[in-house]
Amino acid sequence: MKDIRTLSLEQLTQYFISLGEKPFRAKQVYDWLWSKNLHSIEEMTNLSKELREKIAQEYTINPITVDELQKSTDGTIKNGVKLHDGLLVESVLIPTETRTTACVSSQVGCSLNCEFCATARLKRMRNLEVAEIVDQVALIDRQSKLYFDRPLSNIVFMGMGEPMMNYKNVVESIKKMTDPTGMGMSPRRITVSTSGIPKMIRMLADENLRVKLAFSLHSAIEKKRNEIMPFSGKFPLTEIMESLQYWYSNTGNPITFEYCVWKNINDTDEDIKALIRFCKQVPSKVNLIQYNPIGDGKYDQCNKEAEENYVRQLEKAGITVLIRRSRGGDIDAACGQLANKSSD
Ligand code: SAH
Repeated sequence: MKDIRTLSLEQLTQYFISLGEKPFRAKQVYDWLWSKNLHSIEEMTNLSKELREKIAQEYTINPITVDELQKSTDGTIKNGVKLHDGLLVESVLIPTETRTTACVSSQVGCSLNCEFCATARLKRMRNLEVAEIVDQVALIDRQSKLYFDRPLSNIVFMGMGEPMMNYKNVVESIKKMTDPTGMGMSPRRITVSTSGIPKMIRMLADENLRVKLAFSLHSAIEKKRNEIMPFSGKFPLTEIMESLQYWYSNTGNPITFEYCVWKNINDTDEDIKALIRFCKQVPSKVNLIQYNPIGDGKYDQCNKEAEENYVRQLEKAGITVLIRRSRGGDIDAACGQLANKSSD
């Protein structure tokens, strides 16, 4: 049976008209689905019982369910989320003093092959549906209220998958999250993180969504980046930079560069110089991400001195740099550790 959440408001309206119902019924149902995140047609209490039964004969709702919930000692919650076809993704709640961030997945597995990332070891099975992405956000909002007494404040597309490879559904899910008559999230609190597909970065810039963009750079030396992230051979850094400049000129939003510093891989002055040259070409800041080992023996977090060297030189060059400490590492909920380990 078809999920009623695949229908647009217009399609829902047409559906109710075809049933001989008033068009405003569509808005009522839409509100249950996208504002209240209701997962049961039966519970749409402002519709008559007959109408609810009629809808249920034709449509279903396929919600995500929490298969396993793990809590980290630092408050991070990792949800192993089951989709209607039994596949699993992971969605993480990351609390700080003042905010709650939802780290959501956009694909089951990933088709990219970043050597340092655990998700890359999973085959890409399929893209997530719009409702499956929105459900993760609604789930974490409920958990934030339950465990931290406050609503969700931020969303990052930094879970499993490459958001740009599920472009259409990611964009539609953002529209649903930010719809003032729906969830009403501020787009400024949503970050799309990408490994860098120039054509898609330009497309997203044209959507006028007002979300933030993060680009997983990790090395500004072309040859090195291609070794670390083999798929990136198809996308030269100059082309990526042009798309980032396009992003900035269209949105006025600076770009965040995500960057891990690994021992004996990208911890030299030469790496830093290349990064500075890269950053200088577009308004941006650098997030130095603490590396979460995935047990491959090749990638290791750099030592303290190398990290401090990065910070010092970037700051000297006038570039804003933040160190993003890892969260949820004890439950494999941290960046690049999402690989359904619990379900093996
Ligand atoms: N595919 C998207 C979003 C998912 S990954 C992207 O590449 O941006 C989110 C971030 O975690 C990326 O910056 C990625 O490079 C980083 N990451 C992947 N594995 C990691 C690991 N083991 N430790 C720390 N960060 C990691």
